[in-house]
Amino acid sequence: MKALIVYWHPEPKSFNYALFSTAQTALIRAGWEVKTSDLHAMAFDPVSSRANFQTVKNPDFLKLQIEEMHASEMQGFSPDLELEMQKIEWCDLMIWQFPLWWFGLPAVLKGWVDRVFAMGRTYGGGRIYDTGVFQGKRALLSLTTGGPAEAYAKDGFNGDILGILKPIHRGMLEFVGFDVLAPSIVYAPVRMSEEQRNAELERYSRRMADITGETPIEVGRY
Ligand code: FAD
Repeated sequence: MKALIVYWHPEPKSFNYALFSTAQTALIRAGWEVKTSDLHAMAFDPVSSRANFQTVKNPDFLKLQIEEMHASEMQGFSPDLELEMQKIEWCDLMIWQFPLWWFGLPAVLKGWVDRVFAMGRTYGGGRIYDTGVFQGKRALLSLTTGGPAEAYAKDGFNGDILGILKPIHRGMLEFVGFDVLAPSIVYAPVRMSEEQRNAELERYSRRMADITGETPIEVGRY
């Protein structure tokens, strides 16, 4: 089995990095092949532009999805995007490791999605959701928050975390065909003791060891 972990955090000594590294170690120990995209270390450019492409369909007006479809036909994506697309095509399981920022993905990870989930290559022509390009693959969000767990309960002041993650689960991952596993969330690691944080890393490591047996969650449309 093959796993891709896409990770972004600006600090290599962060707790997010510890989770990223824990997943790699646990999966490899369980017999997985693992590839990674450490977007901060790669200095990944998150901004979509003509630099996404080696090909040009219309030099007078940049319409990204038209250029994406053309590049899909002509194998014309830039080398950095081609590499990321091949990693997704290669994996059986994709994990995104990130801190929750403004109820969503941090900009670099969002920009990775903007650029890598390209029309033609990763969706389109009726290939979405149940007929999506990546059907049969699974995806998992592994994130940390600043707010405590009770703030993200259904009646918490931030609202239900599954509702907050829905644009990612439904609008990105399921849209391109992935089955979504329950998110792994460490609430407020900053407020934890060292022992509590170590216990969270241990819990995540055990989850990774058994991840093949997990059933996807029902994200739903509403
Ligand atoms: P860190 O601060 O890196 O780590 C926490 C502690 O763990 C540190 O003491 C660190 O030294 C320690 N640690 C590191 N490695 C290990 C290890 N191996 N073992 C044990 N301990 C270790 N929060 C929300 O809830 N909702 C939001 O919408 C939101 N928006 C944000 C927007 C922005 C722009 C920013 C900057 C923050 C936002 N936050 C939000 C807060 C953010 O989500 C949290 O600060 C973040 O998730 C915490 O994770 P971290 O990896 O950065 O923690």
